[in-house]
Amino acid sequence: MFDHHRQLADSIEVLDRDQKEIFYSALNIHGHACGGMPMGFAAGMAALEALGIERERNMDTMAVMEIGNAHAAGCFADGVQFATGATFGKGVMRKDPKGKWAFKLIHKPTGRAVKVRIRNEVLDKAFAAPFITEYRIKGVNPTDIPAEVGDPAVKRPFGMKFEDMFIIEGPFDIELPKVKPCFERVTCTGCGATVAENYAHYAEGKPYCVDCTPYGS
Ligand SMILES: [Zn+2]
Ligand SMILES: [Zn+2]
Repeated sequence: MFDHHRQLADSIEVLDRDQKEIFYSALNIHGHACGGMPMGFAAGMAALEALGIERERNMDTMAVMEIGNAHAAGCFADGVQFATGATFGKGVMRKDPKGKWAFKLIHKPTGRAVKVRIRNEVLDKAFAAPFITEYRIKGVNPTDIPAEVGDPAVKRPFGMKFEDMFIIEGPFDIELPKVKPCFERVTCTGCGATVAENYAHYAEGKPYCVDCTPYGS
């Protein structure tokens, strides 16, 4: 698997050395060759370029995904996550599920944002490709799809110009609430679980987790 992913990443000539490394990691972490993740990766690169910022290594850039649940090509979100570095675990990727292949990328220090959406005709082509019509729609897992079908799906987004693939709105200003991360922990009086203090509920002065809170959350 890793050798195959290495070959795939190295074969994409429009990516520079660092981007190839990240895309290689993206394939490894995502786990399979598909069309959705790479499309999200290209969309993430387009969003960074439009905002004039680098890939996020801390928590300054936030992605709000409009991808929904239980529909095709949700893998798109992983591509955005890996390309932009706005990850779920850092708390800078969240879903606003609307069933759209679109997202906002927000640079918090400047309050600037862009919105990126895949063009309809690009989605039409992706959904008409054998990857979907011959395999995914029939319930075949992506890892069971032959490389001669999966690999072209991976490479396709990198053979197109960003403007031919995406509609990019902005950069525009965006209003952001000021939130400070909580470093405090408490122990739930009910079950003994450690809970981030900003998620604790107090009854008679004692902390409870959401599951054990006596009066409901
Ligand atoms: Zn995928
Ligand atoms: Zn508890």
